Amino acid sequence: MENDSIMSSINSSSNSTARVAKDHGIPTRCKCGEAVSCYTSRTVRNPGRLFHCCPMGSEKDKTHLFKWTDKSVVEEIEDFKDLFDVLLVDNSEFQRSMRASEAMLKRHESKIDEMEYAVARSEEKTIKCITELKMTKALFLCCLVMVLMYITYA
Ligand SMILES: [Zn+2]
Repeated sequence: MENDSIMSSINSSSNSTARVAKDHGIPTRCKCGEAVSCYTSRTVRNPGRLFHCCPMGSEKDKTHLFKWTDKSVVEEIEDFKDLFDVLLVDNSEFQRSMRASEAMLKRHESKIDEMEYAVARSEEKTIKCITELKMTKALFLCCLVMVLMYITYA
């Protein structure tokens, strides 16, 4: 029961950005304009429990402000949690931009790798060309020898 009411108030606080400041957190003033004070409950049901109350109000009176202080503190913590969430979002955006620049750096690195690979490939091709040229030369010499042998022994 207690947890349910806390959960519902967390949900409502995160959903509604425009909330009445007086109704949220530790109250300072009643709807009637009177400044509220903090008291200690002396009832059998809530002994020693702190509450904020209008001097004209009571726990049963709904027209004047009456609020348990522990609930107000929970609301204050929620506000702090909201602020913390905002800070976390900012941090995650910063991390996202860091990741983006890292990805850009990686892309540049991969381009350099590509260029190095292209240079290596052209070197390979040059070596292949030279080898082919040598083979052609050998083939030509072979043909020449065969022709000479044909001429000599024919
Ligand atoms: Zn009042």
